[in-house]
Amino acid sequence: MSKTAVFPGSFDPITKGHEDIITRAIPLFDRIIVAIGQNQEKQGFFTIQQRLEFLRFVFSPYPTVVIDSYSGLTVDYCRKTGATHILRGLRTSADFEFERSIAQINKKLYPDIETVFLLTMPEYSALNSSVVRDILRHGGDPADFIPKGLKLK
Ligand code: ADP
Repeated sequence: MSKTAVFPGSFDPITKGHEDIITRAIPLFDRIIVAIGQNQEKQGFFTIQQRLEFLRFVFSPYPTVVIDSYSGLTVDYCRKTGATHILRGLRTSADFEFERSIAQINKKLYPDIETVFLLTMPEYSALNSSVVRDILRHGGDPADFIPKGLKLK
């Protein structure tokens, strides 16, 4: 059976931490869909269109990585796309607790789906998108924290 993973997230914007998890997962799956979950209640820093463009730029060298966005439940999106797995990254024990409950609920909602976790590389364990947004808000340069060559415009 062909294995498709959905990596859901806000990616507002993508960081080196996300990039690391996704590139390490490429050999594990036939296809990875990096999917921006649209949150109606949360106004993003970057628009969905901008975030999609950043993701397309970063993953253009990888033919098995597909970029998309969705609204509604992640498990419904997984059913629609024929995904077999949900991929997530773990940085800390706080991530683990948060991810554990989501994964267990998703399993209940859609028993055929398996969530798999990859541990972050130690150098990325303090990194998240809000760090990058803060740097940008205050006129700093986030280049060390975002994928190489990516321009956040
Ligand atoms: P959210 O789920 O709040 O939208 P993100 O879009 O930032 O958050 O995260 C999506 C996924 O990427 C989550 O599984 C998260 O744990 C993972 N992730 C985020 N930053 C990192 C990082 N620095 N290293 C590893 N995984 C990360």
